[in-house]
Amino acid sequence: SKVTKESILKRAEDLDVKFIKLQFTDVFGTTKNVAIPASQLEKALDGDVMFDGSSIEGFVRIEESDMYLKPDMNTFSLIPWQSEYGNVARLICDVYNPDGKPFEGCPRNVLKKVIKEAEKMGFSMNAGPEAEFYLFERNLEDMPTTNSRDYGGYFDLSPVDLGDEVRRAMVTELESMGFEIEASHHEVGEGQHEIDFKYADALTTADNVVTFKFVVRKIAMQYGLHATFMPKPLFGKAGSGMHTHQSLFKGKNTNAFYDENAKYQLSKTAMNYIGGLLAHARGFAAITNPLVNSYKRLVPGYEAPVYIAWSEKNRSPLVRIPARRGLGTRAELRNPDPACNPYLALAVTLKAGLDGIKKKTDPGDPVNLNIYHLTETQKKDLKIKSLPASLSEALDELEADDVVRSALGPHVYENFMTAKRIEWDEYRTQVFPWEVERYLGVY
Ligand code: GLN
Ligand code: MG
Ligand code: MG
Ligand code: MG
Repeated sequence: SKVTKESILKRAEDLDVKFIKLQFTDVFGTTKNVAIPASQLEKALDGDVMFDGSSIEGFVRIEESDMYLKPDMNTFSLIPWQSEYGNVARLICDVYNPDGKPFEGCPRNVLKKVIKEAEKMGFSMNAGPEAEFYLFERNLEDMPTTNSRDYGGYFDLSPVDLGDEVRRAMVTELESMGFEIEASHHEVGEGQHEIDFKYADALTTADNVVTFKFVVRKIAMQYGLHATFMPKPLFGKAGSGMHTHQSLFKGKNTNAFYDENAKYQLSKTAMNYIGGLLAHARGFAAITNPLVNSYKRLVPGYEAPVYIAWSEKNRSPLVRIPARRGLGTRAELRNPDPACNPYLALAVTLKAGLDGIKKKTDPGDPVNLNIYHLTETQKKDLKIKSLPASLSEALDELEADDVVRSALGPHVYENFMTAKRIEWDEYRTQVFPWEVERYLGVY
């Protein structure tokens, strides 16, 4: 049944909702919200709620700060935990300019634009993320630490796995918000976890990632823990990725990546899409891996990708093709990390894939060796390039990639670039303990 203004007003009343959070996401992936009492819901559903965008990072200049929030009616959901002042619901919104046009600095609008482009080519994108995170203790001042007091490893069973109970609470709350959870397990690192939810169309998935992170953090807090999506919180331990499975569909029931008779049973569309991902991987890395810290995860030895190649077997390359065929045929892009803005990350990777289809980009042969173990000469012979080694390199590559830049649009691109260059400069000029230990005594 179609969701209408009337049906939401009725549901809000039936559920005794007292407050509604109007949510949106800034350029850097931070979720913001404006809370309204139930009396304002009708006005909000009409898109008449205004806010001052001037203090939101990457949004607008002071002179043009009035922005409108237009809720996406499909995103109405009760927030499951109780507040003593009554039930709370949320609506995810698009940001609009006062003149009624979609605001181009709104990441959700950016993704919608690329989705439209795919639709014009006859495709819709499905995406399924696997977000990993660490659960750490909080200290007496309630500040997060990097201690997990958890000695569990990959797929370990409780009682070693102290996160077991917390993870069950997370799964239960997510389910009550409509998530279909496929699996949850302990990850490789001590205190590291993964919860997988079902794939959906790209926009729904990006919304889901935002909600997922919010719920995971909130539940961890209720247990006195801190959940972190920082890509590499501990040196020498597994980092946290957000592998993203992607496929293109034609209509509801035809997976455009599947071709029964083709080599690997992968269609031309699939091959060219993979080709596009590989061709633009250096260009979109700054978006899928947006922190200084992101590049400390992308090193050999921790199941995170370093080299730009694809494979239907091995897990070291950037793109892996899971064994599933038919409707489930898909490419797993392994470099994104959960610190990325999911709207922008899906927008740029979809754009890269579509560009591959337009240009018929050949992804080359799959590399079914463990690339971590190849020598420099072997990599050169196989023409295997690496992902950027630092945020700074990634920003240079983004600057040089017109396709990825056009997916972001000038507003998001300029704001992102300016802020990230500053972030890099702040990092670059620090003196870290490693340097002092290594150099102070010797020189
Ligand atoms: N933690 C690894 C990464 O950073 C992935 C581990 C896995 O899921 N096999 O990508
Ligand atoms: Mg997984
Ligand atoms: Mg995993
Ligand atoms: Mg995976």
